[in-house]
Amino acid sequence: MAERIISTKWHPLRLVVLLLLLFTTACSPSQDALESIRNEGVLRVLTRNGPTTYYESQGNPTGFEYHLAKAFADHLGVELAMIPVVGLEELFAGLQEGRADLAAAGLSITPERSAQLQFGPSYTTVKQLFIYNRSLIEKPLEYKDLQGLRIRVLGNSSHAEILRKLKTSYPALEWSESRDQETIDLLELLQEGDIDITMVDANEFHANRAFYPDFRIAMSAGQPGKLAWAVNNDPRYAALMKELEDFFAKIRSQGELARLIDRFFTFNERQPFIRTQTFLQMKEERLPHYKGLIEQVAIEYDMDWRFLAAISYQESFWNPSAKSPTGVRGMMMLTRPTAKELGVEDRLDPLQSLRGGARYYKKLYARLPNNIEPPDRGWFALAAYNIGLGHLEDARVLTEKSGGNPNLWKDVKERLPLLRQRKWYKQTRYGYARGDEPVRYVENIRSYYSLLTWDELNRYRVPPPRIVSDYLPAALNHGLGAL
Ligand code: GLU
Repeated sequence: MAERIISTKWHPLRLVVLLLLLFTTACSPSQDALESIRNEGVLRVLTRNGPTTYYESQGNPTGFEYHLAKAFADHLGVELAMIPVVGLEELFAGLQEGRADLAAAGLSITPERSAQLQFGPSYTTVKQLFIYNRSLIEKPLEYKDLQGLRIRVLGNSSHAEILRKLKTSYPALEWSESRDQETIDLLELLQEGDIDITMVDANEFHANRAFYPDFRIAMSAGQPGKLAWAVNNDPRYAALMKELEDFFAKIRSQGELARLIDRFFTFNERQPFIRTQTFLQMKEERLPHYKGLIEQVAIEYDMDWRFLAAISYQESFWNPSAKSPTGVRGMMMLTRPTAKELGVEDRLDPLQSLRGGARYYKKLYARLPNNIEPPDRGWFALAAYNIGLGHLEDARVLTEKSGGNPNLWKDVKERLPLLRQRKWYKQTRYGYARGDEPVRYVENIRSYYSLLTWDELNRYRVPPPRIVSDYLPAALNHGLGAL
C-alpha cells in the first residue's frame, strides 16, 4: 500500500512522506543516531574509492569496506547508502556535519583523530610504509635519510600525523600533503619521479605494487595502524557505538570478519613478485589475442570475463596449444574424457576449450552443497575443478571433524594439504590426494583475478557513482528523483 502511494505522481501524501524524510534527515540534531538510521531505514556510510575500500566491479559495488558496511546494514535490517568522497578532508568534514552515520575508509586510529572523533572496534592492523622508487633514488635506511627528500602524503592522513611527530626529532624533514587526491595518485607521482617518497598502508601497497615493479619499502613508520570505522563524537552516537561493539563481536566470533580479510587483503601479499610480473607481461602480450573469445564465452556462461581469464591463465598461460605430459591439452587443459563429456571435439580450438572449461566449472559450482555461499562457492568450484568433488568433500569432512567450518574456503584450504598424510587420508572416503595443489591453484587464480580487476580499476579509474540516491532503497530513490 505504502509503495502505491509513493509511486503515484504528485499525490499529496507523497509530498508529506518526502518532507518528513527530509525533516528527519536534516533537522533533528538531538535525535539518537541509531534511532534515525532505523527510522529512515538507511545506513549512510562515507568512504573512499580504491581497491582496499570500495570500488565497482562488473557494475556491482564491492571492496572490503563495502562488504563490511553491508554486513552492518543487514545486521541493523536497513539499506546501505555508500557515499564516496575524494580525500580525507571531505570525509572528516562530512562526518562532522552529520552527512553520514559513520566513515568506513581504511582509517587508522590516531591520537589526533581520537581527540575529535570516536572509533568503533578495530577490525585489522596494517603497517604504515615509506615507499620509494628504486629506479630513482637510493634506499633510505633510517628516518634521518628522509630529510631532504621530496615526500608527499595524503592530507589529514595518519601518515601526515606520523610525519608531524617525526619532525620533532628530525627538524629538517619536509613534506607536502594532497587535499583531494587518493593513494593511487601519490603512487603515480612516485612512478613519474615527481616525488621521492610517499607513505601508504601495507594493504594498499600490496594491492597496487604489481603495477609498480620498481617500488620498494624503505621502512615502516610508527606503530602499525589499527583500522576502524570513525563516528562523530556527539553523545547522540552512543547507542550506535554500542551497536558497533555488538556487531564486530558477532562477525568476529562467526568468522565473517576473518573471511572478509582473507578475501580482500591476505592473498595478494603472498603472491610471489616474479610470478606477478610474468602475469602482467603476458596480460599485455598474449591476453589481447584471446580477450574477445574469453569475453564471449563469459557472457554465454554468465561469468565475469576476468575470472575466466584468470582460470585460463592458470591452466595454460593463455596458450591454446598447451600440452602436459599427462595428456591434458589446450587453453583450459582438459583431459580427453572430460573433453568428450563436455562435447569438446577439438581441445586445441581455444573457443571450444574455453566453452568446455566454463561449462565444467559451472557444473561443479551447481553440484556443491547448497550452504556454501559465494564468493567461497567459486573457490570451492575451482578446487573441485583441480582435484575433483570427492577429495574436496573429504577435506570438508576433515574440516568439520577438526572444528572448522566446512563451508568456508579459508577453513577447508587449511585441511586440503592433509590429504597427503596417511594419518589423515586413511580416515577419508577417497583417500590420498595431492591436496596442496588445489590450494595453490585457487589462490593463484584469486591473485590473477584481483590483478585483472585492480588493473582495470586503476587504469580507467571508474569510481562508483557519487550520487547517494544511486544506492538508496528503491522506494526512497524514486521519491528523491522527482524532487
Ligand atoms: N590509514 C590511512 C589513514 O588513516 C589511510 C589509508 C592510506 O592512505 O594508506 O589516514
